[in-house]
Amino acid sequence: MRKKVVAGNWKMNTLKDDALKLASEVVNMAKDETPADVTVIMGVPFVHIGSVKALVGGASNVFVAAQNCHTEESGAYTGETSAAMLKSYGVDYVILGHSERREYFKETNAELAKKVDIVLKHEMLPIFCVGEVLEEREAGKQKEVVGQQLEESLFHLSEEEIKKVVIAYEPVWAIGTGKTASSAQAQEMHADIRAMLVSKYGSDVANEISILYGGSCKPSNANEIFGGADVDGGLIGGASLASRDFIDITKSY
Ligand code: 13P
Repeated sequence: MRKKVVAGNWKMNTLKDDALKLASEVVNMAKDETPADVTVIMGVPFVHIGSVKALVGGASNVFVAAQNCHTEESGAYTGETSAAMLKSYGVDYVILGHSERREYFKETNAELAKKVDIVLKHEMLPIFCVGEVLEEREAGKQKEVVGQQLEESLFHLSEEEIKKVVIAYEPVWAIGTGKTASSAQAQEMHADIRAMLVSKYGSDVANEISILYGGSCKPSNANEIFGGADVDGGLIGGASLASRDFIDITKSY
């Protein structure tokens, strides 16, 4: 059974007090309002992880994600954060391969394959982002680009491992632009991703993997997007910074 997932990606936003206020509102509102079968995730900046995790406490439907980690176990990598460190703070999920990291930090599919491995090794769950840029979509190459991202970063995993991965399809042209993919465009790519998973791992495995949509998702369009047969939820940027909007999205199935 595919999990329904609504994950927030706070990106590089929130100071200490804002982060605690936002996280506590999300925890309280999720407890009262979010349907029990929806997994709620807050993807918070590294510096807030400890305090947000303490605040989430034993909430049963709210989890904490980091937004990145390093490929190596430990060592002389000044300024970096390891998967083991995240695990030691009780982090549940790690967002990997976000287009902003691919663009600004030049993360490659090969490097991301290593990050996926180390996150799984430390018993956390990757939220793995894929998606094409505008020129690729205009050239009709979106399926090829996403296929290559999956192939080079995920398809070395075993059946048991791939089942732990949440995939997020985020067309880069729809991120932070207010330009959402239409629900038909989202469903079409989600179905393509599902078909690639079926051909690599078979339908039983493919049907266990949640595929989220990300890119200008908000309360007013979430219901329509989540209506796609292969859309299992969303990875939410801007709208995850307002607790009311974020929780409303968790109710949009
Ligand atoms: P927006 O929802 O702000 O477009 O961001 C999407 C995103 O990048 C989530 O990871």
